[in-house]
Amino acid sequence: MASQTGSIVQESLDALLKDSSFLPELKDKTREQAFASLASILSTPNKVHKAFLRIALDNGKIVRIPAFRVQHNNTLGPYKGGIRFHETVKEEEVINLAALMTLKNALHDVPFGGGKGGVVLTPRDHSAKEINLICQKYVHYFSDILGPDKDIPAPDMGSGDREMDWMMAEYKSIRPGEPYRGSFTGKSIINGGSLGRREATGKGVYFSFRYMLHDFLKEQQTFLTNTGNKFAKTLLGYTDKPMTCAVQGFGNVGSVAALEAYQCSLLQNKVVAVSDRNVMLYNSDGLDIPALINVTEKNKGDLPTSDEQLSQAGIKAVIHERDQVLELDVDVLILAALQDQIYEDNMKNIKAKFIVEGANAPVSGKADQYLSEKGVIIIPDILANAGGVIVSYFEWLQGRETQFYNEEEVFKLLVDKMKATMDAILPQYFGDPFPLRQNCYIYSVMKLSTVLYRQGKLY
Ligand code: GLU
Repeated sequence: MASQTGSIVQESLDALLKDSSFLPELKDKTREQAFASLASILSTPNKVHKAFLRIALDNGKIVRIPAFRVQHNNTLGPYKGGIRFHETVKEEEVINLAALMTLKNALHDVPFGGGKGGVVLTPRDHSAKEINLICQKYVHYFSDILGPDKDIPAPDMGSGDREMDWMMAEYKSIRPGEPYRGSFTGKSIINGGSLGRREATGKGVYFSFRYMLHDFLKEQQTFLTNTGNKFAKTLLGYTDKPMTCAVQGFGNVGSVAALEAYQCSLLQNKVVAVSDRNVMLYNSDGLDIPALINVTEKNKGDLPTSDEQLSQAGIKAVIHERDQVLELDVDVLILAALQDQIYEDNMKNIKAKFIVEGANAPVSGKADQYLSEKGVIIIPDILANAGGVIVSYFEWLQGRETQFYNEEEVFKLLVDKMKATMDAILPQYFGDPFPLRQNCYIYSVMKLSTVLYRQGKLY
């Protein structure tokens, strides 16, 4: 497991080991032994599967593309997690992302374990036909370990409903007569996908922020004032205060989170900056997010990169260098692009008071510690970006029942689930000195440990 997740899991276990009210049945020597077993269970994946997908490209050339499926832990249910299509995919990274899925699902009471897949390729360099072949080959190589009750992939960076449809179709033809609808989630609606799945991650990301800044802040004012905790002070400073937001990444997660912020009537947000792989767009009076979504849809997913494109679309914004988005003087920074965006070199330049992790692992361990010490509230990936896997769970359920919910029902279920998690975590966080990430990890580790204990796996 990559260092950040590994070390926070270890710190959480150390804290729980000292807390004698947690699993009091485990005493003295046995307790230490049991916690050592837990550390080894949670810090190593159950299985790492690798393959080289042999594909004939459109030009006739044969290539072998490295692909992975990591099955981290299935204590709480079948392995679950996306398949990332990106040129930077590495085995260690997929292992770390799979561990995050184990913790994310445990945190939100989703009855799945954690898994993750990866394919090393640049999606935009391949034709649709080549991607289809890659999807088929992925399922061909891994079909024995996948399935609705074994391991259920979903989209991740670089993959979407098209890829899930293709993979499900291949799975169905390899395993005729077996249930297949729950074998992949994030499929298109017509192929058994769930309404609201596409927007789920971005909506959940913004909800995690809105719930803290509106509902929780309003309801818990006295509690927050009494705790005197630095995070409580940060939050109280934003009572009825207008806020500026910047969003890094304008894909499936960032654009939806930006739209939610733009449309939110409960908070006075202004989205002043958005960025993608090419540019950052800035307007201190606020950007027209619906117009930007419209124009990126016509521009192969990219934000406008010239003044001409902007004025044609009637959008008022100034174009800046892409990475400036991180260091802007804004209240809220939503990170919805890649991992490792805020780290030792730039952490001192961050001015936002709230960071919301739409992407997985965008803030390094050192940066998290440094910013948390300054009272910056970081809503971590496993809390903020779980909307995707939560609605994946609803999709899996709907596939089993072959009965489908409408969009309103899906969003209500999503919000209820995230609210339940936040109600369990936030009072704890604003009451003790641990960063929010640590609080979430402790909660997940407690759940996994208790289940392992009850299953007789710890002595
Ligand atoms: N790839 C998403 C994540 O990192 C969704 C996973 C899923 O739906 O299984 O949470």
